[in-house]
Amino acid sequence: MTDTTATTTRPWLDAALPVEERIDLLMAEMTLAEKVGQTHQVANIDPDADAETIRAGRISSSLYASGATGGNERDEGVLVGSIDAAQRHAVEGSRLGIPLLFGRDVIHGHRTVAPIPLGLAASFDPDIAERVGEVAAREAAVEGVAWTFAPMVDISEEPRWGRVAESLGETPVLSGRLAASLVRGFQGSDPSGLDRIAACAKHFAGYGLAAGGRDYDTVSVGENTLRNLHLRPFKAAVDAGVMTVMAAFNDVDGTPMHAHEHLVRGVLKNEWGFDGVVVADWNGIGQIVFQGVAADNREAAALAIRAGVDLDMVSGAYLAHLEELVESGEVELALVDDAVRRVLRLKFRLGLFERPYAARPGATNAPTPESREVALRAAQAAHVLVKNDGVLPLDRDSGTVLLSGPFVDDGEALLGTWTLDGRGEDVVSPGSALKARLGDRVEVSDGRFSDRTLQQSRRAERTVMLLGEHPSRSGEANSVTDIGLPHGQLDVLRAVARLGKPVVAVVYTGRPLDLGEVLDLAAAVVVVWHPGVEAGTALASILLGDVEPHGRLPMTFPLSSGHIPTSTHQRPTGRLIRADVDHEEGRYLDALTYPRLPFGLGLSYTTVDYAAPTVSTSTIPTDGSLTLTVTVANTGERPCREVVQLYVRDPVAQVTRPLVELTDWALVDLAPGQSREVTFEVHAEQFAYTGRDLTARIDEGEVVLLTGPDSARLQPVTITVRNDS
Ligand code: BGC
Repeated sequence: MTDTTATTTRPWLDAALPVEERIDLLMAEMTLAEKVGQTHQVANIDPDADAETIRAGRISSSLYASGATGGNERDEGVLVGSIDAAQRHAVEGSRLGIPLLFGRDVIHGHRTVAPIPLGLAASFDPDIAERVGEVAAREAAVEGVAWTFAPMVDISEEPRWGRVAESLGETPVLSGRLAASLVRGFQGSDPSGLDRIAACAKHFAGYGLAAGGRDYDTVSVGENTLRNLHLRPFKAAVDAGVMTVMAAFNDVDGTPMHAHEHLVRGVLKNEWGFDGVVVADWNGIGQIVFQGVAADNREAAALAIRAGVDLDMVSGAYLAHLEELVESGEVELALVDDAVRRVLRLKFRLGLFERPYAARPGATNAPTPESREVALRAAQAAHVLVKNDGVLPLDRDSGTVLLSGPFVDDGEALLGTWTLDGRGEDVVSPGSALKARLGDRVEVSDGRFSDRTLQQSRRAERTVMLLGEHPSRSGEANSVTDIGLPHGQLDVLRAVARLGKPVVAVVYTGRPLDLGEVLDLAAAVVVVWHPGVEAGTALASILLGDVEPHGRLPMTFPLSSGHIPTSTHQRPTGRLIRADVDHEEGRYLDALTYPRLPFGLGLSYTTVDYAAPTVSTSTIPTDGSLTLTVTVANTGERPCREVVQLYVRDPVAQVTRPLVELTDWALVDLAPGQSREVTFEVHAEQFAYTGRDLTARIDEGEVVLLTGPDSARLQPVTITVRNDS
């Protein structure tokens, strides 16, 4: 119910009015200083030290605060539990009572941590992604967090880059579809709901192309490639209603993204009609100075506001200079107004004016059986079986098992990168899960590889080695030049393999690794990423065959570091050596060039046959569609969940097009011996691409549709797009 006294003096508080009208009413009252205040985001907020600034309306948002009430302890310098106290200064102590907006990086779960985004992408399951977003939003909201900086949708074919861990893989359709699901999970249909928070598609744009995989490095890319690849998942997130977008640290062809008027204001805001907030990345406006494109923060602020960056994350450049830049006529007031309007729109849509305080007495966000169930499903789907000579699943005849390696009891490490709120003690470790299932049949080593590992391994019938990367080796600012396993792990694997008994390698990782020798030495290899709180339960269920492995690789694994980049979006060259299929020819003198593990690969404990695809019609108009059918048959003795994949190739276009591009897929459960017809509705608009003039087009002519279990085992059917059909 609307408080009529309040709405007389503050008419924008009337929730019955349309949001745009409420913004007009509020902005009409705002001074320039108050407007500029709405463009300023601070890192931490302290209700005592910052009281005056908040009351003056000079802080719009904070990005690390967490905890609604009770604040008096500091966690790494951030006052925990200060949100409502700070909010009170804004709502009750400032002239206009504009609430603060509290953001936080809730990247793949809050307390109930799910797999890292790359692991989530391995699920190929939009429903799982949505559930993970939903649980994360609910738990974060309890702490007063109203906004997360996720999903990250940077496309990359660069495993050296640590941030691929945060990405949804290398292909635009998978990344875009899962991003849309996460946005729906975080925001729901009404982001003002008690358990919902705003999402943020990041980092706009081209960040995944950082030179050499070095984080934050420069990006040289043409607009055609941006539009045909890198911008597409952002567009999908915008179409799904994402409320905010974060600018990227990198430049694109010489222009820092925080100053890139053409891409931010031109493409994102004007062309796509995005009416949400563009937030700077951490000090991204200040970094324009380091990039050598502005002499000082004042000039950087002018470039960024013109480019369309609405909210300044921590640089302080807007707060310090925007007022004066407007007064001197160097920056038009309309640009500041546009930014403020967007920030206020976000706050109104989140319902902050109606419900500014977060405290919910009695509410907790500790993992529950329900939230754990979501994390478990996601973690199981993150297990990608890439080799199995029959040693898995481990059954009763498998005898004794040694579980060894650095992750056996390290819960915290299995949470993965960017988990501000996850707790190691919430993780079910592989050691405890396997022990609970196998009792005396399993020996759990102490977590360090040593000569003792060999001794223990000699005693066991099977050795399960937990190999791979600690999360501190992936994620932001954690790039590597060599995508091999961390030092020493291969030595131990070699020594254990020499004992002659089957070894199962479980690889926890934040990036595609060079697994060449692991694949040679181990009888079975499971790639798991960093799986979150249900790590051990998920591993036990997959190794023991309670659940069939059903994850698929969302990034290509190259043959070695020297082969990067290798991906499905490689485009044909003038010399017809096809990196994706030619296993005999190499484009290096010293090596072949096919992927070690292709995009989309993932085995199960059974065998599945794919028939050739058929189509309902072989000619469609540019606005038409057809039905493609492929029969898949489970020819083995165990059930499976198959990810039936559909790719597209455009043999003749205005510009070079990917050798194959994933365009759709279906998750299909098959009982032993069962076969099913899987149908895809294929619309000609799936063949749309950006042509030479940078506009979208659908060409007439042949298109090849390809189906199969992964990007390297495909069967084609050719259709024709023609308007006179
Ligand atoms: C990262 C962003 C993140 C931000 C706030 C930056 O360094 O690039 O992805 O959201 O920090 O924590």
